[in-house]
Amino acid sequence: MKAPLFSYIRPETVDGAIECLQQYGEDAAVLAGGQSLMASLNMRLSAPGVLVDINNVGSLSEIALHGSYLRIGAMTRQVEVEQSSLVAEHAPLISMAMPYIAHPAVRNRGTIGGSIAFADPAAELPACIVALQADLIVQGSKGERKIPATNFFNGLYETALTSDEVLIAIELPAAADQQKFAFRELARRHGDYAIIGVCACTEWSEKTLSETRLVYFNVGDQPVLAAQTALALTGVLSAESLESAVEHLAEDLDPLSDLNADPSMRLHLAKVLTRRVFEEWAP
Ligand SMILES: Cc1cc2nc3c(=O)[nH]c(=O)nc-3n(C[C@H](O)[C@H](O)[C@H](O)COP(=O)(O)OP(=O)(O)OC[C@H]3O[C@@H](n4cnc5c(N)ncnc54)[C@H](O)[C@@H]3O)c2cc1C
Repeated sequence: MKAPLFSYIRPETVDGAIECLQQYGEDAAVLAGGQSLMASLNMRLSAPGVLVDINNVGSLSEIALHGSYLRIGAMTRQVEVEQSSLVAEHAPLISMAMPYIAHPAVRNRGTIGGSIAFADPAAELPACIVALQADLIVQGSKGERKIPATNFFNGLYETALTSDEVLIAIELPAAADQQKFAFRELARRHGDYAIIGVCACTEWSEKTLSETRLVYFNVGDQPVLAAQTALALTGVLSAESLESAVEHLAEDLDPLSDLNADPSMRLHLAKVLTRRVFEEWAP
């Protein structure tokens, strides 16, 4: 199928993009890498009257360390994030996740901001930024605001962005020496969307865990933070504490059902992935 008719505008600045979004309201859509948007237009799953292409807004592509946080511009291509030594050093969880996102051809065009703004519950990056307690910097007609990643996702493909706002950048707290990170997912084939996945981080001192955050993806309509499981893991890690903690996943997760797995299978897989994370940290 072909996309429905649309008008196309390519502003050079963020202010220019916001003006277009303000003018056309809900009828406009931001075009970033186009890897999800163009497919949804071609399949006629969405039909915006105007595409606001932000590929010429140069100020949105950067990866820079600013004191205690790493800032990644929303239009930074996924491949640049994947290959960045700054990201590997200061946000290793993101580096671990990148190779699992689709295939190189998609990552060459797809942007970090597009993946986050699209808010696919099966996507890797939304779960990573919730685990890392990142902030999203957005700009609209009322100026700039900072939204914690934990408040950004509102449901299936729904975010806190209003119709005249552009996601500008992602700010990630720089990893500390005592932190450990892990990323695991299960997919039918490498590059497919995951059946289920987990992003994990913790503060680690001689097998004692604190500030553990476990965020699961493709279990619900947005990334799911497993608070009870993480709480149960606080303290000295042992085979017994891990086994008792994974039982709390039944309280934290209310897994969805689809062609790949029913809720009980997803819960089982969540336990398997969680054990693998901690066995990797403490073999
Ligand atoms: C074959 C295939 C396999 C894929 N597999 C995976 C996978 O395994 N895991 C995964 O996570 N993703 C996967 N993707 C999706 C891919 O990561 C996309 O690149 C990503 O979801 C969207 O990024 P984009 O830059 O292409 O955004 P676009 O497609 O241009 O936009 C996506 C949505 O976000 C909005 N948007 C984009 N940027 C902004 C912004 N700065 N501000 C406000 N709104 C914005 C758009 O309006 C649109 O609604 C796959 C895609 C394909 C085609």
